[in-house]
Amino acid sequence: MKDIGIDLGTANVVIYVKGQGIVLNEPSVVAIDSETKKVLAVGNEANEMLGRTPGKIKAIRPMKDGVIADFEVTGAMLDHFIKKAIGKRLIKPRILICCPSNITQVEKTAIVEAAERTGARKVFIEEEPKVAAIGAGLDISKPSGNMVIDIGGGTTDIAVLSLGGIVNSESIRIAGNTFDSDIIKYIKDKHKMVIGDRTAEDIKKEIGSVYNNDKEEQMEVKGRDAITGLPKTITITQEELEPALKENAMKLVRAAKAALEQIPPELSADIVDKGIILTGGGSLLEGFPQLFKEELNVPVFVADSPLTCVAEGTGVLLDHLELLEH
Ligand code: ADP
Ligand code: MG
Repeated sequence: MKDIGIDLGTANVVIYVKGQGIVLNEPSVVAIDSETKKVLAVGNEANEMLGRTPGKIKAIRPMKDGVIADFEVTGAMLDHFIKKAIGKRLIKPRILICCPSNITQVEKTAIVEAAERTGARKVFIEEEPKVAAIGAGLDISKPSGNMVIDIGGGTTDIAVLSLGGIVNSESIRIAGNTFDSDIIKYIKDKHKMVIGDRTAEDIKKEIGSVYNNDKEEQMEVKGRDAITGLPKTITITQEELEPALKENAMKLVRAAKAALEQIPPELSADIVDKGIILTGGGSLLEGFPQLFKEELNVPVFVADSPLTCVAEGTGVLLDHLELLEH
């Protein structure tokens, strides 16, 4: 018998198999033939096709923005990943799936059904912020407040947890991808150059920052001249990019502020003491901890492995699955 945990993210799917740990970590991308609707590739392989696909091959992110854009494709993706993670042997695993906290009941049911079709014996669904907190090593079972800000690809979840449950949570559609778009827009407006999503993400990871730290990092960027249409290379600095990223980063700060204002004062007092934990790949954008700390005046920590802590959290929960049986 194998129990598995799945972090079904807007950007990445991470799968944890009990007794083995994390066995799969791939982008949540599916390539389909737009005429026949046939699935051509999933995950890493499909990602290679993004932005480079000829006419009739379409690469899609079915979990885009934290809502399921396409039930069928999501099902096909889950099926592919589960089979890849556990092999095609005749075992009926119990599956714990973490999904973005803003999905609807209909979407939840669709995810459960898709997982059941892969042969699962039983499917459990948990909300991502709770599992992220557990994966980041927080003890959320005590009557004491914890705050988690999970910055994913499509959504940021801000949640306050206590006594094992979510006291307050909000999901915002500003996250990792938003900063990629900000970079694309900035370079287009300022340098009259067109770049693709991948390039934007590379720039973000290499020199992106949401907090002015007086570093003088810069990067050479290749793209297409917006006016002549010809290839072009420019140099971008961290400093010039920072204001372009700061605007949306501040929206996350304001949402976190609002969340702190809405919770009972005892819980805010706990958070002032213990701080906020940042999870999700988006929290790796340089300057986020400093920005939140300065603006909210509380300690801020980034989880040890922001990209995999939800999957690791499922690993912890898999040892206590009976507690999730309702
Ligand atoms: P989701 O849970 O929505 O699938 P993830 O937690 O996997 O999202 O995070 C994906 C996001 O993290 C992407 O937008 C990606 O660009 C971003 N990301 C990953 N690594 C870094 C990094 N080193 N710096 C900045 N952003 C990063
Ligand atoms: Mg996530």
